Amino acid sequence: MDRNTMLQQLQDVSEWDIIIIGGGATGLGSAVDAASRGYKTLLVEQADFAKGTSSRSTKLVHGGVRYLAQGNIKLVREALRERGLLLKNAPHVCHNLSFIIPSFHWWQKWYYGIGLKLYDVMAGKLSLGKTKILSKETIQQLLPAIATQNLSGGVLYHDGQFDDSRLAINLAQTAVEQGAVVINYCKLTSLTKTDKRISGVVVQDVLSNKEYTLRSKAVINATGVFTDYVMRMDDPKHHAIVSPSQGVHIVVDQHFFPGEQAMMIPKTDDGRVLFAVPWHNKIVLGTTDTPISHISLEPTALKEEIDFIIKHTNRYLSTGVEYKDIKAVYAGLRPLIKIKGKKTTSLLPRDHTTIISNSGLVTITGGKWTTYRTMAKTAIDNAAFACKLTKQPCVTAELNIHGHKINMDYADTLNMYGSDAEKIKQLIIDQPALAEKIHKSLPYTKAEVVWAVQEEMAMTVEDVLARRTRALFIDAGAAIEAAPLVANLMAAILQKNYDWQQQQVTAFSAVANNYLLQ
Ligand SMILES: Cc1cc2nc3c(=O)[nH]c(=O)nc-3n(C[C@H](O)[C@H](O)[C@H](O)COP(=O)(O)OP(=O)(O)OC[C@H]3O[C@@H](n4cnc5c(N)ncnc54)[C@H](O)[C@@H]3O)c2cc1C
Repeated sequence: MDRNTMLQQLQDVSEWDIIIIGGGATGLGSAVDAASRGYKTLLVEQADFAKGTSSRSTKLVHGGVRYLAQGNIKLVREALRERGLLLKNAPHVCHNLSFIIPSFHWWQKWYYGIGLKLYDVMAGKLSLGKTKILSKETIQQLLPAIATQNLSGGVLYHDGQFDDSRLAINLAQTAVEQGAVVINYCKLTSLTKTDKRISGVVVQDVLSNKEYTLRSKAVINATGVFTDYVMRMDDPKHHAIVSPSQGVHIVVDQHFFPGEQAMMIPKTDDGRVLFAVPWHNKIVLGTTDTPISHISLEPTALKEEIDFIIKHTNRYLSTGVEYKDIKAVYAGLRPLIKIKGKKTTSLLPRDHTTIISNSGLVTITGGKWTTYRTMAKTAIDNAAFACKLTKQPCVTAELNIHGHKINMDYADTLNMYGSDAEKIKQLIIDQPALAEKIHKSLPYTKAEVVWAVQEEMAMTVEDVLARRTRALFIDAGAAIEAAPLVANLMAAILQKNYDWQQQQVTAFSAVANNYLLQ
């Protein structure tokens, strides 16, 4: 993917069938869906792809055990089907993971065991493996760090795990392969109308400040927690529909939670679930559910959220996580849909919502990463209907996502690139110096920086360290130290001067400080 080529194509098209605003899971999924149906498709993202909520998840492709307990059978069934399709269509970034629910009362393992057997049945032939009820001894073997007081056994079940921003980049690549144009750092500034119907958009290239007025038959608002801003561009009297809820994760070294399995604690003090998930040789712990009024692309974790995660983790693990052990902390905002009378965000549903305005703006929001494909299908079906596009069937259930590769070698650190891993290895064969790591505590090589710039439209140091590699999320301190080297490598390819490098390092450090405990 090359941004200059995309900008050129932007000017070559006189009218688009569909313009999608927002380059998170929902927007990128919609771009794949629209382009693969043959629609002339453009996606614009104001920052980088997955800069918003879509790089800040718990990294689970799941049916949602919690939603099963809440009786939301429709959502669980849909998510289980989507989980199965994602593991089939993007096996290089999504895989099967065993989860253990430890039980501390004799009845718990039977209660959760029966519920999870139902979860297996609902997954049907897309089930990832059978739920098992396990003895205390087996739980201790599988979770060596588990606190043993009152431990009476547990339940093992299967769900999916993924790398969220890597999947987002792969969706952008898939959309382009299907004929779409996707542009990061390109912001919607206003909607244009003809006879009170939306007929296009005005967007600004944030890197050059150049403005473009574009015509389109349909416009889709897939802006997550920014949904209401775009709806207000359409109708200044619009009442907010999104209730943003913040979720925080902390990341620690693997020795705090050794073993291959993840752990799920089904009920925290505020009635949520807490996960400990192995990810890129670290452990992700979280999450929280805090109603928030200020929307930002870089939300900040609250001290009480971090305390909450540490307190609950230490209730179940004997290894004792402390503030000093935290390698990174990240916060994300859920775009939940408001419901009259419900003030607690953890009680708001996780289903998605589609709204077509009087002027034809199609808004899609809510939902989960796991269900991005069905959300995209709904958005495009609605856009085609409302804006009178020639009807075309959705083909994404059977569409491989860029990088698709089976028989993965998980010991290979480049496995997350799937079929592209061989091309990155070829870069190293051509230039052996690119085999060098960017930092002694990070698994990433210089070759991956070059790859991110040349092939994955990384424009800033942050794009490389936060979303092409996951350095910022697994070790924020090491990521800050690696920034000058990354800026230097990028400058050589993008033909930028020393001032640009300095400015990039400063900008990245400012963002990355938010991922460190102050
Ligand atoms: C803490 C947390 C944990 C989660 N864990 C999971 C999980 O494990 N599994 C799961 O399935 N789901 C999970 N989710 C839910 C999932 O992450 C979200 O549902 C999903 O990422 C939302 O994607 P989106 O595309 O709708 O929004 P976003 O990812 O926020 O994308 C919207 C994009 O629109 C862009 N935008 C806004 N305004 C403009 C404009 N004017 N012009 C151009 N672009 C604009 C933004 O920059 C942003 O990138 C989690 C969510 C949170 C918060």
